[in-house]
Amino acid sequence: MSFFELHNIGKHFGKGDTFFWAVKDVTLFFPSNGFHAIKGKSGSGKSTILNMMTTLLKPDEGEIVYNGKKFSKFSDAELSDFRLKESALVFQHYNLIDGASALENATLPLLISGVSEKDAITKAKDLFKKFGIECLINKNVDLMSGGEKQRVAIIRALLKNPKVIFADEPTGALDQKNAAMVMELLKEISKDRLVIIVSHDESIIQKYCDRVIDLNSPDSNPIEEERRKTIRKPQRIKKRDAFSPSWVRFFTKRNIKRNKTINGISLCAAIVGFLSLLVSVGFYHGSSVSLDNEQCRSLDFLHASIAEKTYEKSEGSPLSLVRYTRPESYRASEAVEGIEDVYVRNDYSYFLPALKSYSLDGISQEAVTFSPSYSLSSPFAKDLIVEGDIPKGNDFQFALVNEEFAKLFDFNVIGSEITFSHNYSVLYNGVKDQGKISYNFVIKGIISEFSFLNSAKIYYSYKGLESYLDDIELKEISSSLGYSVSIPALFDILPNDHEVTSLDYLIFSDNKESIRSLFKVKEELDKDKESLLSIDSSSYEIRTAYSSLTNAFSLCLCIFVIISLASVSLILSMTSYSNFVKRKKESAILLSMGARGNDVKMIYVYEALFFAGLGSLVALLLSPLIQFLINLVIQNQFGLRNLISIPYLSFMAIPLLVPLALVGIALLIAYFSSSLPLKVVSRMPLSEILQDE
Ligand code: ADP
Ligand code: MG
Repeated sequence: MSFFELHNIGKHFGKGDTFFWAVKDVTLFFPSNGFHAIKGKSGSGKSTILNMMTTLLKPDEGEIVYNGKKFSKFSDAELSDFRLKESALVFQHYNLIDGASALENATLPLLISGVSEKDAITKAKDLFKKFGIECLINKNVDLMSGGEKQRVAIIRALLKNPKVIFADEPTGALDQKNAAMVMELLKEISKDRLVIIVSHDESIIQKYCDRVIDLNSPDSNPIEEERRKTIRKPQRIKKRDAFSPSWVRFFTKRNIKRNKTINGISLCAAIVGFLSLLVSVGFYHGSSVSLDNEQCRSLDFLHASIAEKTYEKSEGSPLSLVRYTRPESYRASEAVEGIEDVYVRNDYSYFLPALKSYSLDGISQEAVTFSPSYSLSSPFAKDLIVEGDIPKGNDFQFALVNEEFAKLFDFNVIGSEITFSHNYSVLYNGVKDQGKISYNFVIKGIISEFSFLNSAKIYYSYKGLESYLDDIELKEISSSLGYSVSIPALFDILPNDHEVTSLDYLIFSDNKESIRSLFKVKEELDKDKESLLSIDSSSYEIRTAYSSLTNAFSLCLCIFVIISLASVSLILSMTSYSNFVKRKKESAILLSMGARGNDVKMIYVYEALFFAGLGSLVALLLSPLIQFLINLVIQNQFGLRNLISIPYLSFMAIPLLVPLALVGIALLIAYFSSSLPLKVVSRMPLSEILQDE
C-alpha cells in the first residue's frame, strides 16, 4: 500500500454525441513525500486527475485511496477535513476571494481550521516576506497582476502546512526568477511531504522534480516497493468547535455591505410584509376592543325594548304570523330581574314621532331619527359632548344632537329650536279622545358618537317626556270615566293588545354593565325557542352587524397576511438565491479549502437573519406611526376610533407575544428561505464551479 493510490480511475463528460472519457484507466501510486510532476498535452486530463485527487470531483470509475482509506468511504466531514488539514491545492486560475486583501485570502484556511486571527497573521507575514511580496499584504487581490495572485495562492496553500500539496501550473504566470524561487521552495518542502504539480514546462519539471508522470506514455519513474510502504497513521478528525467562526462573520459582514441595492429592496419588502402582519394583528385585536368601546359611544346604546310574541297560525299554511304586544308588566320586570340600574317604562312612541324618520326639507334628504335617552344628564352624555352643554335636570325642552345631525346645519345648531307636532287619537270603551301634541326643543349640545350605521339623531329626555305627558289630560275619556286621566295613567288601564300599548315596554339604563347583562338576557331569550318574550335593541343589532363585518374582514386580512408573508419569503429566497449564484464561486473556493458546507451555508443564513431581524425591528418601530395614520383616516372617514390597536405588551394573555412572534417568524422565514436555494445549487461538482472564468 502506498500513501496515495489511484486505481484504474476514469472520468467522463458529456452525454450522447458529446460523451467522452477525459481520463481513462489511470493507475498511479504516490509515497508520502517527494516532488512529483504530471505532464501531458493540453486536454489530456491533468487537471481532471488533480480535481479527483483533491476530492473536488468524483471519479466515475476506479478508486482513490488516501492513507489506507478509500475516498468513496469518506463522510462529508472527513472530506472537508481532508481538504482543510491534509491537503492544499493551488489552482491554475488562483481562485482567490475577490474584494479581500492578500492577507485575508492567505489566512482564510487557517481561520477555517480554527487558528486565531493573530497567529494566522503572524505566520502569513513570514511567508509573504519569504516570497518578497510583503508590500502586497493589504492590497485587494482584484487589483493584482497574475503573477502576484499566483504567489498569494501559493502562500495560501503552504500556510496551513498540509501533508499533500497539489499545484496546477504553479509557475504559469511567473517570470523566470520567481518561477525558480517557487520551485525551489516546493522542492524544499517536498522533503517531508508529498508535492504533486501539473506543468507543461518540460525544462522546469526536469530540473526540480523527482518523478515525472507523462499521461501520454507509461509512468517514467514508478515508485519502488519499499518506498510504497511509508504510511503514516491516519489523523483523527478533530471536531471544529466554533459555532460561528470569525471567517463566517467576515463574509456575512462583507456581503451585507456589498449588493446595497438588492439588499435594500428586499429589506423594504420584508418591512412592508411585517408591517402588514402587525397591522392585521392590530386590526384583529383593535376591532374587538373598539367594538366594545365604540358601541358605548352612543346614547342609543342605553335602551332596548321588550315585547311579547304571539303566534297566529293560519289554516293550511306553514307560516305563522308573529304579533308583538306589550307583556304583562310583572313579566317584563321578571325578565330583567337581578340587573341593576334598569328602568322598565311604558313606551309612548305612539304619542311621539320617535319611530319615524324625518326629512329636513330644503336642506337635505337625510333622515333624522328621534331617539330617547332616559336622562340627558347621564355620565355618558358628558363623555360624548363635543360642543355646547348637557341640559341640567330632565327638562323636556332641551335636546342633544349628534354630529351627523349637526353636519346638516354646518354645525350651527346650538341654540336652534326644533318644532314638531303630532296628532293622536285614542279609543277606550268606545270613547275617542284626540288631540295634537307640540314638541319644541332647543338644541343644547352636540355629541360625538360612533357613527357606524348611524343617521342624524335628536336625543330627548325620556324622563322629561314622562312628566310632560303627565300634564296632558285626556278630556273625553276622563269625563266618561268620571275621573281625570292623563296619558301615562291611561296606559295602566289599557289592555296589553290595545293599538296604543301594543308597542311594548322600554328598558333604560345609564350603566354600561347593566346594558351588557341585558344583552345576555336577550341572547338567552333568543336561544330559548319556547320563550314568548323578546328584547330588541338597535345598538345590539349594530354590534352584531359590525362584528360579522369585522369577522369577514379579519378573514380577508388573514389571507392577505399569508400572501404577504409568502411573498416576503419568496423575495428573501430570491435575494439569497441570486446572492448565492453570484457568489457560487466564492462558496466553492471556501468548500475546496475545507470549509464545512454548513459553515458556508451559515454565511447566507446569517445574512438573511440579519435582514429579517432588521426588517422586523424596523417594522416594529414604524408600526406605531402606521397605526396612527391608518386610525386617523378611519376615524375621519367612519368615526371609529382606534380600530387598529397592535397589542405590543400582551396578546392572548401572553406577555410580549406579538413582538417576539414577529421576530421569530422573521427569523424562521430567513432561515428557510436562505438554506433552501443553497441546497439546490450546492449539488454541482465543485471543480466545475471553480473552472468557470
Ligand atoms: P488538461 O488540464 O490536461 O488541459 P483537463 O483535465 O482540464 O485537461 O480536461 C480534459 C478534457 O476534459 C478536456 O477535453 C476538457 O475540455 C474536458 N473537460 C474538463 N472538465 C469538463 C467538464 N466539466 N465538462 C465537460 N468537459 C470537461
Ligand atoms: Mg489544466
